[in-house]
Amino acid sequence: MSVKIEDGCISCGACESICEAVFTVEDIAVVNQAAVADNMACVKEAADACPVNVIVIE
Ligand code: SF4
Repeated sequence: MSVKIEDGCISCGACESICEAVFTVEDIAVVNQAAVADNMACVKEAADACPVNVIVIE
């Protein structure tokens, strides 16, 4: 599994609030890929919560 942020992140901070091990919001959200495997539950929750649906799990 890998996680990417597509264009359009509005830097709202929701993903970091939900899953701070994986997401850090700087100018836009960035993903710590190394932490994805151990945090899939909150990655999915963050993807569902993203208001612009730019978190893609592949
Ligand atoms: S929840 Fe979505 S819009 Fe908000 S910071 Fe994360 S990726 Fe960006």
